[in-house]
Amino acid sequence: MRRRALAALLALLLAAWAVPAGAALRYTSMEGVPWTYPVPLDVIRDEQDVLRLVNRDHLLDSTYPDQEQAMYALEDVGLRKATRGETLLRTVAAQALRELFAGAEAAGYKLYVDSAYRSYRTQEVMHYNRTQQRGYDSGSIQLAGASEHQTGLAADVVNWTYRDSLVEAFGETEEAVWMRENCARYGFILRYPKEAEDVTGVPYEPWHLRYVGVEAATYIMENGLTLEAFTAEWQAALAEYEAALAAYEAQGE
Ligand SMILES: [Zn+2]
Repeated sequence: MRRRALAALLALLLAAWAVPAGAALRYTSMEGVPWTYPVPLDVIRDEQDVLRLVNRDHLLDSTYPDQEQAMYALEDVGLRKATRGETLLRTVAAQALRELFAGAEAAGYKLYVDSAYRSYRTQEVMHYNRTQQRGYDSGSIQLAGASEHQTGLAADVVNWTYRDSLVEAFGETEEAVWMRENCARYGFILRYPKEAEDVTGVPYEPWHLRYVGVEAATYIMENGLTLEAFTAEWQAALAEYEAALAAYEAQGE
């Protein structure tokens, strides 16, 4: 163990010496195996649980989120339609959304939150009601456990004109264009992009923002990815890295 630690330290010193000061160094892990994926390893390790993929194939259970993930009540966000009472988001997302709202306001746009955190139970009731109302499951309301709103990391954000109707046409508004172009700077992605329904299982939703952190969001939005595609990418990169790491450590024994 000591020998391995010493080897790691030596590798780090060598890397620091060989690589000129700059971006490349942060992708080099402590253990001496290079991390080459464009999103840093500490982001992929996801200790804050902000990269979690939620969809019909990746359901949250009814007890998620646990107590540790404190919810923060948003204020001054206007609408609160789908969620009665307080508009809640996880603290990390709430702070980022407030900054996004401030950025929009500085650019001359006023945004409103239509819906944020929804519990498993709320989602269950919404899905039941919609299905009863239509006589069949139209898919327009996610099943309980399949909604990103349960993470407390997603918010439906609109302008005043579209406050009563979440429809695709919102995507043509200046506010929606601003959100699409700037959301990554605040750590958000457009979770359900246009023409990605075959991947996400959800039609285009220009209002649905999902917090993943600035680095992941920037990579996802710059490359026009879905969260599904991004997850598959980083999981493959991580598996490859861990295999290389195991081989490296076996060598050191
Ligand atoms: Zn939504």
